Amino acid sequence: AKGAGKGDWKRYRPDLQTAMIERSALRQALHEAVEREQFVLHYQPIVDMPTGAVVGLEALVRWQHPERGLLGPYHFIELAEESGAIVGIGGWALREALHRFVRWQRDHPAAAPAYVSVNVSARQFRRPDFVGQVRAALDGTGAAPGALLLEITESLVLHDTEQVLADLRALRALGVRIAIDDFGTGYSSLSYLRHLPVDVLKIDKSFIDDIVTSDRQAALVTAIVTLARDLGLTVVAEGIEDAGQRATLNGMGCPYGQGYLFSKPVPPEAVPGTITAAELT
Ligand code: C2E
Ligand code: CA
Ligand code: CA
Ligand code: CA
Repeated sequence: AKGAGKGDWKRYRPDLQTAMIERSALRQALHEAVEREQFVLHYQPIVDMPTGAVVGLEALVRWQHPERGLLGPYHFIELAEESGAIVGIGGWALREALHRFVRWQRDHPAAAPAYVSVNVSARQFRRPDFVGQVRAALDGTGAAPGALLLEITESLVLHDTEQVLADLRALRALGVRIAIDDFGTGYSSLSYLRHLPVDVLKIDKSFIDDIVTSDRQAALVTAIVTLARDLGLTVVAEGIEDAGQRATLNGMGCPYGQGYLFSKPVPPEAVPGTITAAELT
């Protein structure tokens, strides 16, 4: 570090080394974790804002680490992207989410939500066979393409190549819907949206946090909701934690929301409307 003498560096070194060894152990374990069936998906409801009715579920991955317990994505997603393990994890998540969804629909036709939303990393999306993987997952599970929403990041479409655009069009041609996740964090101009083959904008939590107290934030979110409506896009506000935020968003005409106010992500057996009669007794 700047200003640190040689002695300081020596003293810090064991920590650095431990961190590096841990990171490399984690990287190794990550690569084996899919085969060892150590990942689970938790599900967070996406609700209709005026009524609170659940319309969709976002699948969020967790790693059941043999020694460390249940780890959230912040512990491993970055490493998985960097090492490429995310491709296998993401492929598994897609098949698993669709598989669960089909079972929920079969067992609870009246109570099951209309769609499941799955996160796709840029690295996974850019694989030449990604569209084929999605088609195979739909065919393999028997899920309707309209029941799948794929969440991609703004940066993927910002650095769009012709190939990314072609794949987005191919997915939509299948009947799959596309969402831009964490919308607003990618420093993009809003005008580029007009040309983008997507269906849903998920407004990032950082815009929602101060929506009640900051006129500036409120104005931004109003602009996004209005623009989306004009372009025929659907909007989901993320990270809604209190009733004040919900009321403000309702006032803006924001149609859909997601956040701890409604529910945290829950394990599959706790998804509302999916508890079987046997489990209730
Ligand atoms: P994300 O896609 O933006 O997911 C939303 C995150 O915000 C989730 O964290 C969720 O638990 C959290 N959240 C939802 N509502 C609230 C709220 O009201 N307050 C607060 N404070 N947080 C809320 P989680 O599950 O830890 O996931 C973190 C990120 O990991 C996700 O952000 C996503 O980028 C990534 N991720 C999760 N699963 C997958 C996956 O299967 N594939 C890929 N590529 N990325 C994933
Ligand atoms: Ca997401
Ligand atoms: Ca998000
Ligand atoms: Ca996020």
